[in-house]
Amino acid sequence: MTDSPTTPAPSGRVPAIDVRGLRKSFGKNEVLKGIDFHVDPGQVVCVIGPSGSGKSTLLRCVNRLEEPNAGQVLVEGIDITDPETDLDAVRSRIGMVFQQFNLFPHMTVLKNLTIAQRGVKKRSKAEAVEVARANLAKVGLADREDAYPTHLSGGQQQRVAIARALSMDPDMMLFDEPTSALDPELVGDVLAVMRDLANEGMTMMVVTHEMGFAREVGDKLVFMDGGVIVEEGLPADVLANPRNERTQSFLSKVL
Ligand code: ADP
Ligand code: MG
Repeated sequence: MTDSPTTPAPSGRVPAIDVRGLRKSFGKNEVLKGIDFHVDPGQVVCVIGPSGSGKSTLLRCVNRLEEPNAGQVLVEGIDITDPETDLDAVRSRIGMVFQQFNLFPHMTVLKNLTIAQRGVKKRSKAEAVEVARANLAKVGLADREDAYPTHLSGGQQQRVAIARALSMDPDMMLFDEPTSALDPELVGDVLAVMRDLANEGMTMMVVTHEMGFAREVGDKLVFMDGGVIVEEGLPADVLANPRNERTQSFLSKVL
């Protein structure tokens, strides 16, 4: 059997995300040194590791916000490193949430949620508003649609950012340290929304320092250091019994 992009995983499913031999350099600095891993549909994969280990770069390569130097990134079987691939079509299946919420400050919450639906999804105004309201309700912010982002707490802004991503009907969500910029008392509400999403079966890749979330919600935990995956496994196993010395050292500092 050939190893074509559409070869199903052993589970019989094409992985949602399949990264093979991924390398990425900035100038002479190689920050991803051959990354192989996959995320199955419906799986929640959490990625941990020290600052500078390449976590954000990896996430950004998955929707080609960064261009890999070598290797393949397949999204639902489609090679996004192939110049022939319609990148916009693939990207429209991937929702992304950043540490800094990246909302449009001069637009109301509702407008933040409808603008891309109108432009990219070509939805009517009525439909875009209906989808936006459903997603605002989902993140517990049904009553804030007329607010401007600056009048919301960081936690509320991040939940708006999640609702905005969901309004595009993504097949999967990428989160890059979604709670790292939040005051500690606001973290829980955002994690609760992410947990609900996971329970609904959303495919998720989450870079996080929230080990409780990783343990309870994650199906797989990946530890990165120095541009390589040092260790991966069931979150409870990796957290309780890290096999690699570098994983042990990192966890001893954060747990
Ligand atoms: P992490 O998210 O794990 O903290 P990053 O992926 O952000 O790590 O960064 C990994 C390395 O790549 C760091 O050394 C960082 O300085 C470097 N890097 C990231 N983005 C760029 C860029 N756009 N230009 C140059 N160097 C970069
Ligand atoms: Mg980062």
